Amino acid sequence: MTVRVRFAPSPTGFLHVGAARTALYNWLWARRNDGVFILRSDDTDAERSEQRFADDIVEGLRWLGLMWDEGIEVGGPHAPYRESERLERYREAVDGLLSSGDAYYDFATADDLEALRAEATAAGRSPVYDGRFGAPLEEARRRIASGDAAPVRFRVPRPGVTEFADLVRGEMRFDHANVDDFVILRSDGSPTYHLASTVDDVDFEITHVVRGEDLLSSTPKHILLTEAMGARRATYAHLSVLQGPDGRKLSKRHGDTALHSYREAGFLPVAMVNYLALLGWSPGEDETIVDIGSMQERFDLAAVSRNPAIFDPAKLEWMNGVYIRALGLTELEARTRDLVESDLGRKLDPSEERVFRDVLPLIQERAKRLTDVPDQVRFLFASDVVYDESSWEKVMTTPEAETALSGALTRLTEVPEWTTQSIEAALRAMLDEHGLSARKGLQPIRVAVSGSTVSPPLFESMQALGRERSLSRIAAATARL
Ligand code: GLU
Repeated sequence: MTVRVRFAPSPTGFLHVGAARTALYNWLWARRNDGVFILRSDDTDAERSEQRFADDIVEGLRWLGLMWDEGIEVGGPHAPYRESERLERYREAVDGLLSSGDAYYDFATADDLEALRAEATAAGRSPVYDGRFGAPLEEARRRIASGDAAPVRFRVPRPGVTEFADLVRGEMRFDHANVDDFVILRSDGSPTYHLASTVDDVDFEITHVVRGEDLLSSTPKHILLTEAMGARRATYAHLSVLQGPDGRKLSKRHGDTALHSYREAGFLPVAMVNYLALLGWSPGEDETIVDIGSMQERFDLAAVSRNPAIFDPAKLEWMNGVYIRALGLTELEARTRDLVESDLGRKLDPSEERVFRDVLPLIQERAKRLTDVPDQVRFLFASDVVYDESSWEKVMTTPEAETALSGALTRLTEVPEWTTQSIEAALRAMLDEHGLSARKGLQPIRVAVSGSTVSPPLFESMQALGRERSLSRIAAATARL
């Protein structure tokens, strides 16, 4: 049997990092089993679905490299894969369920519901919709034909229990006493999520449903529906929700949750994939850097943890740095040159290109995001230095600042040849002369030259900047003291 999995986002918001992990786990499970990864669009909610969200989801998956074998945009044997294009099929499925008696039109009145609630309260339990308001089909059809509207509900067998072995969470057991006769078709004729999702999973021959834990309580409903349709149930795996470092459900409060903001913030897709994969799965003891090929061979849903996974932006950033350092210089240059040029608002000229290539290895050693590159080289190409005010406050208000700056100016003017070595020698002589530590004496020069206490190594930076500009920046900073 071929493994067939699906990722089924609703285009009602930007692709969330948690959903991206769900997509990745589905994709890995398909690859691991030589299976089929399907992208379906759960777009039955016309009010809330938007094209820009649909585009964002597709772009996000492509950016991560999670290509799908069947689904929207690429087609396949079960097309269409957009739920909004399958409405006829859902109605047909409902007709079948009505005829077999597994579903019924519900004409409950407000008074009926009030009675149901009162009865439950008296018995000390929450109200459960148990089918007592189901109208006989003939009568229901007459009423509908004469203009009445009613939702269709699934008839949950009572008494009863639905059990399943979740690949991640283990044995699950749902007593039907707590499962409502749920709506499958609203009175306006539109399908609910439970109906559309289950019909699709059946029609697309899905073997494994891998999705977020928030949908766990829907699963007994989906299993009942599947079996009422005469199909075989899938195997389910529910992934824990992501939490922020404080242990609360991951949300805006913790920072960006949209995948595209990580792309824009200079994260590499390989780093993102590696990081997301480890949110609940581990290839082995202390193995943190895992390439995608190895993941495809080793990923196992049964080894995914049921504990909540912590999404920690600091760890992700660390990992991104590891991947940035693993890039060849040519590739790093290709990936960051546009960032630098759009930051400057112009192209680099050939001599600046050389400077850029010279300093890139120095930046690569420290960068955590690709966007650190424009931040770190801006001072080399901008005509005026822009001081980072907190850096200025920190180092330019010390008594040593003026001594260091004027001492440096004197020494550097005398340097015969403008090389990294001679700059270093001149500045070290200045430190000795005034009895300054490297930290006290060099930081003011760094801020004068680059505008910030965070810059590529100082001597190399000054060499790249050139004598004239270095000296005039030190003079300008002295005047500003
Ligand atoms: N469309 C659902 C969602 O975005 C997921 C459906 C499913 O995986 O069953 O939450």
